[in-house]
Amino acid sequence: MILLINPPAYDFKAFDTWLSPYGLLSMASALKKKGHEIKLFDFLDRLHPGIKNSFILNSMGFGRGKFYQEEIDRPEIYKNVPRKYKKYGLPWEIFERELHSMPQPEAVLITTLFTYWYPGALKTIEKVRAAFPKSKILLGGIYPLLCRDHAIKHSGADIVVSERSLKKAVSVIDEILPRAENPPASDFPIPDYSLYDEQTHAAVMLSAGCPFACSYCATPLIEKKMRWADTDEVFGLVSHLYKEKGVLDFAFYDDALLYRTEEHLLPFLDKILRSGIKPRFHAPNALHCRYLTEEIAGYLYRTGFQTIRLGLESADPKMKEILGGKVDEDEFAAAVNSLKKAGFTTGQTGVYLLAGIPGVSFSSIEHSIRTVHKAGIKSFIAQFSPIPGTAAGDELLKEKIPGYSEDFDPLYTNNTYWWYKPEIYNELENLRLLSLRLNAELEK
Ligand code: SF4
Repeated sequence: MILLINPPAYDFKAFDTWLSPYGLLSMASALKKKGHEIKLFDFLDRLHPGIKNSFILNSMGFGRGKFYQEEIDRPEIYKNVPRKYKKYGLPWEIFERELHSMPQPEAVLITTLFTYWYPGALKTIEKVRAAFPKSKILLGGIYPLLCRDHAIKHSGADIVVSERSLKKAVSVIDEILPRAENPPASDFPIPDYSLYDEQTHAAVMLSAGCPFACSYCATPLIEKKMRWADTDEVFGLVSHLYKEKGVLDFAFYDDALLYRTEEHLLPFLDKILRSGIKPRFHAPNALHCRYLTEEIAGYLYRTGFQTIRLGLESADPKMKEILGGKVDEDEFAAAVNSLKKAGFTTGQTGVYLLAGIPGVSFSSIEHSIRTVHKAGIKSFIAQFSPIPGTAAGDELLKEKIPGYSEDFDPLYTNNTYWWYKPEIYNELENLRLLSLRLNAELEK
């Protein structure tokens, strides 16, 4: 038996805004095909019987809500961040009880989403090691992929899996647990949601990767070129979860959902329309304005999209360089018009604006907030998170973190840490308040 674990999140804030351990569930599907028995422990499962009634499940609407959470001590690096630091996810006692009620796994695979969530993975490894000293422990996901040296040095895992491709990650398990029958793994397996008895939402993907290369973004590091899922399989998954488990809300995790829509998204949406099912779709990752034509916006509206987020290039020349010409203001205005014409409301749409990227002035972000407001759409200010290995992330980390290249602690990639830097805090707060005030005007 292989035990898969989605560890708790250690952070200043975390909400279940359609979070699913997509990679881990895809691994489950690939490993099951090879004949392995799989067990899952998901610390971020809000419907786990041990905590199910202790908090509001749908407090944020569309299947989203709060995680079970406990305040914990802040690490030294965060000592000047005036926010509560928390462990989000199921209590350790529930985890330990489950570990003691199961046979010793042949292997345990733990994955992490954000690099700065690694303390939760490390603590989980400690607990697993204490319960099953003989099981092989593997650590995968985004943290070891982007911070391999740190993971090798500090995690305590037997094997640090920093493969980009899921196929290669599966082959690491093939080596330690060989099977007589060994069908090749798909490079884009459909996630196995049967590991949950109940769920309020599901993540789906038609593609992985992005044709752009913004200098602050981890996607080009993680996916060297774009890959595509089988549209029929994704449709089958949505249809099954909708009909058999009553799941209504589906979030697309694609980074480039609107790229090559003729071959992927539109055939998928046609199937949805023909099937008569009425799921609610959400696009929490920013859609590329360039591809958001009237036809596409109409499709999104007719097929039940409820949440649309866009990305916008600032007027600042440095920002244009950073975004590699992803979108300009004319394309943005055209995309917003298409959404409005299709019937989308102010409450359904919004634009992410990144603040704090080195060299991008606060006045240019203010200009963007006002541009977005003039177009009649809400803005959401997000603090840039410096990701090691990206050009913009390295630029900031080299300048601000002494000894960055020798022994870097991924806690520095947490964007809340940067938001509270005294030299930028007031500017960021002013931008946030301006954005909130202008958004409120649109709601009137
Ligand atoms: S367009 Fe989005 S996903 Fe693609 S590289 Fe830029 S930020 Fe990353």
